Amino acid sequence: MALAPPPEELPHVLISRVRVTPAVAELTLDPVGPALTYVPGQYVLVCDEDYRIPVRSYSVANAPDPSGRLTLLVTEVEGGATSGWLTREVSVGDPVLVSGPYGTFVADPATDSGSGRPVLGLAGGSGLAPIRALAQDAVCRGVPDPFTLFFSGRTEEDLIDRDVFLGWERAYANFRYLSTLTRASGPPPVGRVDSVLPALLPDLSAHEVFIAGAPGFVAAGVRTVRDLGCRPGRLHTEEFYAEPQPWGVEEAGGSR
Ligand SMILES: Cc1cc2nc3c(=O)[nH]c(=O)nc-3n(C[C@H](O)[C@H](O)[C@H](O)COP(=O)(O)OP(=O)(O)OC[C@H]3O[C@@H](n4cnc5c(N)ncnc54)[C@H](O)[C@@H]3O)c2cc1C
Repeated sequence: MALAPPPEELPHVLISRVRVTPAVAELTLDPVGPALTYVPGQYVLVCDEDYRIPVRSYSVANAPDPSGRLTLLVTEVEGGATSGWLTREVSVGDPVLVSGPYGTFVADPATDSGSGRPVLGLAGGSGLAPIRALAQDAVCRGVPDPFTLFFSGRTEEDLIDRDVFLGWERAYANFRYLSTLTRASGPPPVGRVDSVLPALLPDLSAHEVFIAGAPGFVAAGVRTVRDLGCRPGRLHTEEFYAEPQPWGVEEAGGSR
């Protein structure tokens, strides 16, 4: 069987770049030509027009929009070539190349609407990106099934879009927003997912669970939700692992 050709790089233009936490920037990109077709939860590869920057994966942080607009949530990694470019250097009006979509961190098309199965989206930091796309998609469909978005951040300033999610909670009986802070004292919930989730959602045997973020966060989340009864076939994960440097970078003393 012939393999499908790799997706083309589609030119986009940066419409806005906003620091939404001290570490994370939200970027909005509009297509210059054809729009990317994707399913909520998928990711794209991003690079600059001149290929100076290593190509890196970023989850699309919004549900598909008829205009083709894409949003990304990018954590600035210390010494990171591409995250540094995206969070600090690229300016409004600059070209950005996007290709994809990739990934299987998506709802099962057979059950994604009106199945009655509750969904838990567990996000750490910019791991919110694909979870937000899934939640926004549920909101666009009127939240037919219970959807709980559980966000873990270090401190209060990491709570990206808290007001938006609280608004969805008021507007949709089926939408619930929970958060925990791992480096804060004060009113609960405070602590890591494994210590907080069991009291909030003690039985996940009926849930479809999506977990996204840094590998350590995803690993802890997987252990926790399995202990709470989540079935393996209903557990979806997206690890934001560090990707290999391109050949020649070490010899050249770093890519940037
Ligand atoms: C499927 C997938 C989806 C992803 N989606 C997102 C997303 O939506 N938002 C997002 O911000 N990132 C996401 N990532 C991570 C992203 O692709 C890059 O790996 C990240 O931005 C770092 O790239 P860089 O070029 O800036 O750093 P590099 O130049 O590759 O690395 C610089 C240094 O930082 C270390 N490093 C790299 N990444 C991390 C990290 N996450 N934490 C700590 N140290 C690190 C490296 O080991 C290296 O020492 C995703 C990754 C995958 C695989």
